Amino acid sequence: MVIVVGAGLAGLVCALELQKQNIPCLLLESSARLGGRVGSLDQDHFKLDLGFQVLLDSYSTIFQYCRLDDLQPRYFDSGGIVWNFGKRFRFRSRPPDLSVLTTKAFSWTDKLRLALISAGLLCRSDHQILAQDDPVTVADYIAKFSAAAIEGFFRPFFGGVLLDNDLQSSSVLFRYYFKKFLIGRALIPAKGMQEIPEQLSRRIDQNRIRLQSEVISLRVKDARVREIELSTGELLSCEHLVLACSEPVSVKLLRGQANSQSNVERGGQASLSGPQVRPARRVSVMYWSSNVSLYPDKLLVLMAGRKRLIRHFVQITNVSPELAPDGVHLISATILGEPDRPGLVDDAESEICEVFPRARGKLEFLRSIQIPYGVPLQPPGRLFGELFRKPYQNVWLAGDQISYASTEGVARSGAAVAHDIARTF
Ligand SMILES: Cc1cc2nc3c(=O)[nH]c(=O)nc-3n(C[C@H](O)[C@H](O)[C@H](O)COP(=O)(O)OP(=O)(O)OC[C@H]3O[C@@H](n4cnc5c(N)ncnc54)[C@H](O)[C@@H]3O)c2cc1C
Repeated sequence: MVIVVGAGLAGLVCALELQKQNIPCLLLESSARLGGRVGSLDQDHFKLDLGFQVLLDSYSTIFQYCRLDDLQPRYFDSGGIVWNFGKRFRFRSRPPDLSVLTTKAFSWTDKLRLALISAGLLCRSDHQILAQDDPVTVADYIAKFSAAAIEGFFRPFFGGVLLDNDLQSSSVLFRYYFKKFLIGRALIPAKGMQEIPEQLSRRIDQNRIRLQSEVISLRVKDARVREIELSTGELLSCEHLVLACSEPVSVKLLRGQANSQSNVERGGQASLSGPQVRPARRVSVMYWSSNVSLYPDKLLVLMAGRKRLIRHFVQITNVSPELAPDGVHLISATILGEPDRPGLVDDAESEICEVFPRARGKLEFLRSIQIPYGVPLQPPGRLFGELFRKPYQNVWLAGDQISYASTEGVARSGAAVAHDIARTF
């Protein structure tokens, strides 16, 4: 029996692939909901995603496990609306509208640079792009662009993608996402991101999934994890164990195990004091409803400048009207880093009203969702967690602790682990 810990996308894809390979497995999830960091909640007939997230139709692995059509994809237009302190630039980057060529959001030199970067990336495979973890941050990589392009487009857009306002993440990620956006389109499932884990789980034998089953410790003998213990005290034996939980949980389970007296007595390894948990990027999302439409486009509004509270916002019902009751508009704003504080909602609202004065007095606050563990820091040279891939012979890691933090990256890691395990049978 293979036990998979964590029913985020990595764990779900792993369990699905194990099932395909006819390998018995059990997927254990501590919470009452599938999907981990990908999900939605219902409130007063609105669907609110747990953080603004999109899928890209240029991803490949995730679509080997869930069918794009079944998600009822609702597409964004490629482009953006830049709000640069009183000036608004709207551009699209796909035919028939190629206003990205004429927009004043970028200088002609910026446009030439963008064309050169695009041409270079189109010649390289994802594997080639991801394999080259050079020591350059995103901020350094884009430093030659004009200040208007950096502050008006790159920081709000890629800061939002990487949840990194300072753009200190590895430039590998910039190149990877830039190419994915170049060749693909961003989409959300009509009924919210929760549809992705739900669709994955519907393909898994329901007897193989247990919710509200938190793994609290591992029992090791002869350098193999033999049993896991649930918070209820139940012990389950395993031949292989996949940790598809987040990095802090894996490190805690492994380190707790390594350092426990009983493990040492049982002949387990005690060498896991090394791996350090990468700090996480905090993010929050705020939702408002409005009876008045702020704008008609299926575009993200990018807030220029480093010190903006809102990194970007979107009238998400322009993309998927299904997320709100008929005729009502739903607005979602992404805020990086900032912990909750009194006055935060009012401050965010006034930034939206600065861009669209018609929103004044019309926004009805629905909810703020705080996500303390958004993604792990992914600086140059430490794109992935500190490697302890094989802490025990039969323990495997999946998710954004060993892959780049994206739905595609974690799906790929879950599938790869299942294939590796299949090879041992
Ligand atoms: C706000 C936000 C926006 C994002 N935007 C995008 C985007 O636009 N595009 C993109 O591709 N990626 C995006 N990402 C990144 C992507 O969502 C994550 O990298 C990915 O979902 C992580 O999946 P995972 O399976 O590795 O981990 P998780 O989703 O964290 O899953 C781990 C699971 O393990 C469970 N668990 C933890 N401890 C235990 C335990 N002891 N026992 C049992 N179960 C346990 C958890 O409850 C959880 O369900 C975004 C992330 C956030 C937070």
